[in-house]
Amino acid sequence: MQEPLFMRPKLQEKIWGGTKLHDIYGYEIPSDHTGECWAISAHPDGVGSVGNGDYAGLPLDVLYEKHPELFGNPTSEVFPLLTKIIDATEDLSVQVHPDDSYGLKYEGELGKTECWYIIDADDGSEIVYGHNAKTKDEFASMIADGKWDELLRRVKVKAGDFFFVPSGTIHAIGAGIMILETQQSSNTTYRVYDYGRKDDAGNERDLHIQQSIAVATIPHKDPVNRFKVRTETDNTVTTFIESEYFNVCKWDIHSKMTFTKDAPYTLVSVIEGAGNITVSNKVYVLQKGDHFILPSSLDSWTLSGSMQLIASTPGYKSL
Ligand code: ZN
Repeated sequence: MQEPLFMRPKLQEKIWGGTKLHDIYGYEIPSDHTGECWAISAHPDGVGSVGNGDYAGLPLDVLYEKHPELFGNPTSEVFPLLTKIIDATEDLSVQVHPDDSYGLKYEGELGKTECWYIIDADDGSEIVYGHNAKTKDEFASMIADGKWDELLRRVKVKAGDFFFVPSGTIHAIGAGIMILETQQSSNTTYRVYDYGRKDDAGNERDLHIQQSIAVATIPHKDPVNRFKVRTETDNTVTTFIESEYFNVCKWDIHSKMTFTKDAPYTLVSVIEGAGNITVSNKVYVLQKGDHFILPSSLDSWTLSGSMQLIASTPGYKSL
């Protein structure tokens, strides 16, 4: 099948969400507290479906199971990746995710390593990234004593920043930040701190302190970021991360660039601008907010126009 698979996203309400997913990307949102667009997802909590071509209407999990040839005949039983756009109108809870062995043992699903490309950030906005405890005991007692300002490491962010968030990293996206997230297909989150917030019914969300202490990386380790930049005329490919679970790049297109397949399949999101993708002499119009998969049957494709895209491919543990 010689065409990109355009995906229909699933929108998710969150108490910290807003309306930007509609205002900026034009998605139909269920309420003015919409936090997440699950743009390319086969996760049971929000399965997206194909929007065009021979497989139109087919859910991505079914497509992955019935047509493994489109994904390079993978060994991974579940579609391993999940692409989201997140609108944090308010702070997300401080949280941590397990690795695969803990996730499979206690939650029956993969762990979650994720990464963030900051699409937009209000002046002064911050994320929580890591913590200052040296030992598990110190970590536990700072939580018990509510010493959040001492415990949590806050980092100022701006549009264009990239963060790799391996499982075990204490993290939170702060208010006023919009991100494109590439992650393992998992929905297991252990909440460490939720600012004492209450939902519409007056209830606080559950915390998972014991699990958080069990899975957090203590002391925190900052991953080493080694970005690679490749420029062809006025087009740039920036590789942010090559990890065991996923590889993530940004494609900055200002004129025209041809790409050759370098992975079994590629997930792509248009985050800014507009243009075209040409595959086997057929032209498809692209605009901000489009998400698509380039299946294994495509050996090359050409992008033209003026746009920014985030592309991801599976790492060796996701094949
Ligand atoms: Zn997370």
